[in-house]
Amino acid sequence: MGLFDKFKAGLQRTKEKLSHEINRIVTRSPKLDAEALEEIEGALISADLGMAMTRRIMEAVKLEYESQGRDGLDVSEIARQEVAASFDGMACGFEERENLTVVSLVGVNGTGKTTTAAKLAHRVRAADGTAVLAACDTFRAAAVEQIKEWGERLDVPVVAGSYGADPAAVGHDAITAAHARSADFLFIDTAGRLHTKNNLMKELEKLHRVIGNQLNGAPHEVLLVLDATTGMNALNQAREFHKAVPLTGLVITKLDGTSKGGMVVAIHDELKMPIKFIGLGEQADDLQPFDAVQFTEALFAK
Ligand code: GDP
Repeated sequence: MGLFDKFKAGLQRTKEKLSHEINRIVTRSPKLDAEALEEIEGALISADLGMAMTRRIMEAVKLEYESQGRDGLDVSEIARQEVAASFDGMACGFEERENLTVVSLVGVNGTGKTTTAAKLAHRVRAADGTAVLAACDTFRAAAVEQIKEWGERLDVPVVAGSYGADPAAVGHDAITAAHARSADFLFIDTAGRLHTKNNLMKELEKLHRVIGNQLNGAPHEVLLVLDATTGMNALNQAREFHKAVPLTGLVITKLDGTSKGGMVVAIHDELKMPIKFIGLGEQADDLQPFDAVQFTEALFAK
């Protein structure tokens, strides 16, 4: 499956809600009266595009309607252009580095950190690179088991401590192991935590400090993993997390399971934070570098 088809399949539910709904309203109300405009606004909001983006799209639609009338007015196309413009110039994926790149995955429980770490390692392997996984979620024995299973399935080495071990010690060992293997990437799976849990945030800071002392600049990427099915709640999570731990970007998972995929647009629009990868399914190759053009096309595909 090509990239565009993957995006299209993964965003199916959001697309159905968004463009099908817009088409339905536009076809039914050739005059685009106030009621129809209100319904279009409602469709944009319920796909979680966010208030600011919704307002911009509605203003653009009204402007176009006033200047050229109903004939040829394409609401979906106007929305697509506004969304595309908001992503303009955003970098996605990872910066190329000569030596080891350390990536720490952070976020609340269940958002997809472990799965994303495994999928990222799989991407590196598929491109003939070397990856190591670190199981720094030592709170849950099941989390260590889960990442070990992924490691076996993908043939990627996993560095894990015992249940309850200090995550910083595991992180330290993982950097040593990644260096010994001349790995290109080390992906660190951290325990799920809420930004409000001070002790857990301190623990995360310690992990990052320890690996930073061991390898200058590490972690090079701190990615907050967000679950798309939580819609606009994820926006709050991102805002608060970023205050506690400086993030380099976002991974938005489970876009395949929601009609709230517009939240990707709202989050980027509000926080101006790069969206590095998106999760479009549970399999190893269901993680894609975020591509604003393909994403926007897929969201509004007719
Ligand atoms: P963690 O607690 O943050 O480490 O979350 P996990 O990696 O254990 O993921 C929680 C659940 O979400 C698992 O059942 C994953 O298979 C599932 N999951 C993760 N990413 C995606 C995705 O992009 N799409 C779908 N459908 N499920 C996902």
